[in-house]
Amino acid sequence: MTLTKDHINEALSAIAHPSGGDLVSRGCVLNIAVCDEHASVRICMTQGNPSESQPSRDQLAKMGALVDSMVRGAAKDQGIDALGLIVDFVDHQGEVIMKLKGDAKGVAREQSKDDPKTPTPQNSGATGVPGVKHIIAVGAGKGGVGKTTVAVNLAIGLARKGHAVGLLDGDIYGPSLPTMLGLHSMEQVVLDGALQPFMAHGVKSITMGKLVDAEKPLIWRGPMAHGAFHQLIERTQWGELDYLIIDLPPGTGDVPLTLAQSVQLTGAVVVCTPQRVAQDDAVRASAMFESLGVEVLGVVENMSYFIGDDGKEYDIFGRGGAQQMAQRLNHPFLGAIPINMALRENSDGGKPTHNFDPKTAGGEALPKALETLVDQLEAQVTLASMSKGASKPTLTVS
Ligand code: ADP
Repeated sequence: MTLTKDHINEALSAIAHPSGGDLVSRGCVLNIAVCDEHASVRICMTQGNPSESQPSRDQLAKMGALVDSMVRGAAKDQGIDALGLIVDFVDHQGEVIMKLKGDAKGVAREQSKDDPKTPTPQNSGATGVPGVKHIIAVGAGKGGVGKTTVAVNLAIGLARKGHAVGLLDGDIYGPSLPTMLGLHSMEQVVLDGALQPFMAHGVKSITMGKLVDAEKPLIWRGPMAHGAFHQLIERTQWGELDYLIIDLPPGTGDVPLTLAQSVQLTGAVVVCTPQRVAQDDAVRASAMFESLGVEVLGVVENMSYFIGDDGKEYDIFGRGGAQQMAQRLNHPFLGAIPINMALRENSDGGKPTHNFDPKTAGGEALPKALETLVDQLEAQVTLASMSKGASKPTLTVS
């Protein structure tokens, strides 16, 4: 038996709201995430009624205990006796006003600010980038799974659809954008103290790889890495962008965590290969985003399968593993990219647009896969923006 979002939703719909109705029907439940024996719930008690004053801390603590006990009951029904549960109460800006963490024994306690394991909620210190509509982080639980490849191809694919797109190489330890975008012969231009992004293949980009000696390894500790990343974001003259794609450093350590929470993200894309071990890393990456209050827009399965010269598809790493993981975590699955020699050659040769043309992409499979990915991402970004109230659908009756 598995605990799902629906089970939790049902449990929360049994909790009455002090102003009438229940938590679910009033739209107070903003997000539910479940992964095996861990769950998190995000609640805004005054959702849909901004003029209503926030409940007192005492009232919130009582409501939290109720939520804790109902969700735990739903978990027990599914055979889970020791659920790790986080309940976040947020205000209209998404700012966390109270965080309750239920330990395995089922006792909810408020996390103290001094607790080193308490992640700072993404929204608290995070800033947007002026003129940029959507900021999307691309992350992975470990290196080498194709995170940068996916970031580059998403950026190119969005630009091919007419969007204004920027790409920021946040992988400051091992920047590979200069190679993948073929920026080696270009010089970084600085005008009035502002970094001018490179314009290549229809995408604006910026990378630490063009600001430091590419031959020297970068040994930066956390605060320096954070500072460098901020310089790249804030000192770059991006102009108006529909999408800014950020290629995060791999893993779930301090550096990707700090970077992911320092900028106001629309959401995150998690890249994973199909193997079980890679999935475990990806589960950790998606848990990292969720703990920061960053929506996971979807999972991409890279190196999903291989098409041989005989035209047959070979499932080298166990195709579909990442898709199953996405389903288990209730994240959208954006699509799968095959192992493709042309993709590797086009990346190493700095010709990413070649991946979208069957003649230079080793056939139809890669362009099709990339286009599906881009369409799915666009759809998820629209959904995420709607649920955050940034753009509401309008109905015209004539
Ligand atoms: P990461 O950013 O996760 O470290 P990269 O995107 O740099 O990974 O990819 C690592 C290497 O694997 C690169 O040489 C890249 O061209 C290659 N690669 C990535 N995805 C594929 C694929 N689907 N088919 C063939 N080669 C790939």
